[in-house]
Amino acid sequence: MRPALTGFSKDELTALVQEWDQPPFRAGQILDWIWKKKVGAIEEMTNLPAALRDKLAAEYRPHALEHTHTQGSADTTRKFLFKLHDGRYVESVLIPANPALYGEKSDRRTLCVSSQVGCAYGCKFCASGLAGFSRNLDPSEIAGQVLAAERLSGERVDNLVFMGMGEPFANFDHLMAAIEIITAEWGLHLGARHLTISTSGLVPRIRDLADHPQQIRLAISLHGATDEVRNKIMPVNKKWNTAALFEALDYWNSRKKQHLTLEYILIQDVNDDLEQARILAGHARRLTAKVNLIPYNKVEGLDWVRPSETRCKAFRDILKNAGVSATLRLEKGHDIDAACGQLRLKQETEEGIIEAPVKAR
Ligand code: SAH
Ligand code: SF4
Repeated sequence: MRPALTGFSKDELTALVQEWDQPPFRAGQILDWIWKKKVGAIEEMTNLPAALRDKLAAEYRPHALEHTHTQGSADTTRKFLFKLHDGRYVESVLIPANPALYGEKSDRRTLCVSSQVGCAYGCKFCASGLAGFSRNLDPSEIAGQVLAAERLSGERVDNLVFMGMGEPFANFDHLMAAIEIITAEWGLHLGARHLTISTSGLVPRIRDLADHPQQIRLAISLHGATDEVRNKIMPVNKKWNTAALFEALDYWNSRKKQHLTLEYILIQDVNDDLEQARILAGHARRLTAKVNLIPYNKVEGLDWVRPSETRCKAFRDILKNAGVSATLRLEKGHDIDAACGQLRLKQETEEGIIEAPVKAR
C-alpha cells in the first residue's frame, strides 16, 4: 500500500523531495496543500511541476482514511467512521463544547481521536477492548483523523482528546509523531495545551510524557480509588497498581504545571460505593487533580448499568465537599453510541471481520 502524505514530518518530506532532485521548498508547498488548503487529491497541488505530481501520485496517497459513515449532525455530537487501507475501521467523535441552544453555531469543537484498532488492555466495561487488539494506527492515520474531521465538517477543531479507540501510550512513537504533525506550524498548528492524552495507567509512558518538552495534558482513566476495585475491572492494574500509578503522577506534578484529570466512570455496584468517593477525594486533593465523573454508557454485549442520577450526584458531592473540582457529565452523546469503539464494533461485526463480542459478565 502506498504510504499517505499525512504521515510525513517536514524533515521527512524534505529528504524525500531532495532524493528526487527537487528543491527543499517543494516539501513546504506539499504540506501547505495537505494541511492548510486541505486538498483531496495530489493533482490539485497546482504549483508543483506536473512530473513531480505524477511521481508523488504514483508512490503516495494524499490521505490515509476513507470516510464511510457519519452519525449525528452539525451542532450535535457527530461520529465519523473511517475505513483503513486494510479494510479495518476506526472512529472519531466531534463534540461541540457549547451545543447551540437557538440554532447558532457552537464556538468550540473537541475531537476524540483513536490511536489503535481495538485495544489489548481489556477493561471490562469498554467496547474498544471487547474484541481484543488488532493493530496500531500509524501517524498518517492518527493525524489524518483531525484533518478528515475538519474537511468533513468544514470547521476548525480546537481541542483534541486521545480518548477514542485504543491505548495511546501503547502506541507511543506513532502517537508522538502524529502530535508533532498536529502541533507543527506547517501542520495543523494546534497548541499542545489543547491536546489531552488519556491513559489507563501505563506508568513508564506517564513518566516519558512528563519529561517531554511540550505542554500536553494528561488524563488518567482511574475508575476505582483502590486496588481492590481497580483490579476487578482494569487488568492493567495488576501490572501497575495504584501505588505505582500515584507515584508516577507525583512525578508528573513535579515536572508539569498542568493539572491532571482523573476520569471515573460510574458503574452501579462496581465502583459507585460512596466510600470510593471519599478515598478518591483524598487522592485528587493530594494530586491537585480535577475529577471527571462519567455515568457508564451502555455497551452492547455488556451487562453493566449506570447508577441512578441521585447516586451520581451524591458521589460528586462528596468530592465537591472535600474541596475537589469535580464535574459530572450527564452527557447526551450515548444516544449515538458516543462511547468510542462502538460504531466500529458494529461495522466490523456486520462485515464478519470480528466475532460478535461475548458477554464478559
Ligand atoms: N485507553 C485510554 C483511552 C481510550 S478510552 C484510556 O483508557 O484512558 C477513553 C475513555 O473512555 C476512558 O476513560 C474509558 O475508560 C472510557 N470508556 C470506555 N468505555 C466506556 C463506557 N462504556 N462508558 C463510558 N466511558 C467509557
Ligand atoms: Fe483500552 Fe482504554 Fe478501553 Fe481500557 S478503557 S480497554 S485501556 S481503550
